[in-house]
Amino acid sequence: MKHTSQPKRQGLARAEDSPLAPCRVCPRRCGADRLSGETGFCGLSAGLHVAWAGLHFGEEPCFTGTGGVANFFFSSCSLACVYCQNHQISQGRAQDTLYTKERFAREALLLQARGACFTGLVSPSCQGPQIREALVFAKKSGLKTPVVYNTSAYDSLEQLRALDGLVDVWMPDLKYADEEMAARYSKAPGYVAAARDAVLEMRKLAGDIQIDPETGLAVRGVWARHLVLPGGVSGTWETLCFLALEAGTGIGLSLMSQYTPLHKAGEYPEIARRLLPEEYAEAVGMARSLGFKHLLVQDLEESPDNAVPDFTDTKQPFKRF
Ligand code: SF4
Repeated sequence: MKHTSQPKRQGLARAEDSPLAPCRVCPRRCGADRLSGETGFCGLSAGLHVAWAGLHFGEEPCFTGTGGVANFFFSSCSLACVYCQNHQISQGRAQDTLYTKERFAREALLLQARGACFTGLVSPSCQGPQIREALVFAKKSGLKTPVVYNTSAYDSLEQLRALDGLVDVWMPDLKYADEEMAARYSKAPGYVAAARDAVLEMRKLAGDIQIDPETGLAVRGVWARHLVLPGGVSGTWETLCFLALEAGTGIGLSLMSQYTPLHKAGEYPEIARRLLPEEYAEAVGMARSLGFKHLLVQDLEESPDNAVPDFTDTKQPFKRF
């Protein structure tokens, strides 16, 4: 009896202790036992999966500065957007590489030495515990650059709280205001409720965005994004009203025009096109009318084709930057 009951107790204790087993790392709460090799919707093991790491100059100026962002693009995603411009790594497994915390720290320190203004965590929502461990180790090893958490906002509150003190700026991209749209285009049940809770939690953890007046770089706080989708699919007015009224106009906001009908978007006629100038102008008017103190409006004329990365190029997926 003793012999058989001991492993069961150990298994239970381990499952209760780790958010990876049963997995509840993102709001899907698949319940996969990732510590025993099971995988859930994201397909990720319990290791740290990175698709590409390097200096990136395409983020907002208050993150890019003159040195760029040392971006770690993590493999997979908590969403499955039919139009994802990073689909090669978010839904395919291009360049998927298992990192140790030592390798993460080594690369982050190297990029810091090359002048990076920020360390960027891109698509981190399915790997919170592994990222936490790697960040703690990197900071102990000398990582000083501030950290920006760049996410679709489909994040669990537990994981956000676990990263409190390690992340300086939270950057959620709030994608929809309608749960049916989130289910149709991103296969994300309950996205709107979960993402709004996540944004409010980020605001609670870090407050309004603070910008250093001398360097122009973000220091701490929340900087939200909203990618405008064709045909009103992203619910821009409702989304921006939520941000202004509930998160407050002291957070930063980027309004983004770069939508391109990539990946499977052609199967959805209503989003199989770029934004029309008049629909983007309407979105810009909405954002301006709400009084955000730090508002960045992406130019519709910027060429989205050049902004689309190709992650099969392991050296530099970003042709434009
Ligand atoms: S992180 Fe992956 S396995 Fe865990 S709940 Fe989310 S999708 Fe499922």
